[in-house]
Amino acid sequence: DQPLLDVQSLQVAFPGKTGDVRAVDGITFTVAQGETVCLVGESGCGKSLTALSLLRLVPPPGRITGSSQIRFDGRDVLTLDEPSLRSIRGRQMAMIFQEPMTALNPVLTVGDQIAEVVRVHTKCRRADAWQQAVTMLEQVGIADAPARAKQYPHELSGGMRQRVMIAMALVLSPRLVIADEPTTALDVTIQAQILELLRDMRERTGMALLLITHDLGVVAEMASRVIVMYAGRVVEEAPVASLFSAPSHPYTEGLLAAMPRLGSTRDRLTTIRGSVPPLGALPSGCAFRDRCPHAFARCATEEPVLYQVGPAHRSRCHLVQEPEHRVMAMEQQT
Ligand code: SF4
Ligand code: MG
Repeated sequence: DQPLLDVQSLQVAFPGKTGDVRAVDGITFTVAQGETVCLVGESGCGKSLTALSLLRLVPPPGRITGSSQIRFDGRDVLTLDEPSLRSIRGRQMAMIFQEPMTALNPVLTVGDQIAEVVRVHTKCRRADAWQQAVTMLEQVGIADAPARAKQYPHELSGGMRQRVMIAMALVLSPRLVIADEPTTALDVTIQAQILELLRDMRERTGMALLLITHDLGVVAEMASRVIVMYAGRVVEEAPVASLFSAPSHPYTEGLLAAMPRLGSTRDRLTTIRGSVPPLGALPSGCAFRDRCPHAFARCATEEPVLYQVGPAHRSRCHLVQEPEHRVMAMEQQT
């Protein structure tokens, strides 16, 4: 069965002082019909660029390079002409952004904005498009939708604006929704409601969801499969249960250790030491080496590949082949 989305060796490059810098460096993954896949990593890992690539929206001077391939429903996205691309965007593949205030048009009512999306793609009558917008606002849980539709974005709360964004993304029943940190700007209660809404819409419509987040709590709630990114690469890929019960890559372990726990007084137990290095100055060998508590000689000389850890579980770390170099947790705390 062919996946809905099939991304092979995706590369995004930006011109740097001494040549191209690869912000996304050979990402390969698939999303099946109706599946929820999470892309996880700290900011600067290339998650958002990966998402933008899928719709060919990489901001210049960045560009998709190398032998990148993106197939959506069997069609080659990178060679589509503009009209075909426009018909896919929004209608079959839609995106939900982090900050609805900047993504929404401040001078149009929210009803008009959703109706506009409908009209651009379906050429239906104005009144019908408006009715679809109101129905969609109801479906995303906005009370008194006919009245709310006539309001402007600034008249709504942050949570309601995010619901409007979701309504706009879903109004044409796309088969794939890409959501880039859709709850990051919201408080915890509203976050939970928005995730619940996305789950509900997924079940109702059978859409696939590619969810981008730095929050493993969100991953646990939503994903069937997880892709962990670091410095523009996939470092671990696993079914959600395996990732949480048996993480393999030291970066994933670090992210898990840094996860806020329920009932914990401190909101961070541990953090990963250091920060993501500038892409033009990655260490030799393994890109995570500077921050890794387990790094050994081979890590400096040989770049790890994605090794198979278990069924559908892969990790870009030499420890998969040489587990004897794994240092115990106590030894790390010098
Ligand atoms: Fe750490 Fe080496 Fe594995 Fe990289 S390859 S994550 S440096 S142990
Ligand atoms: Mg981002």
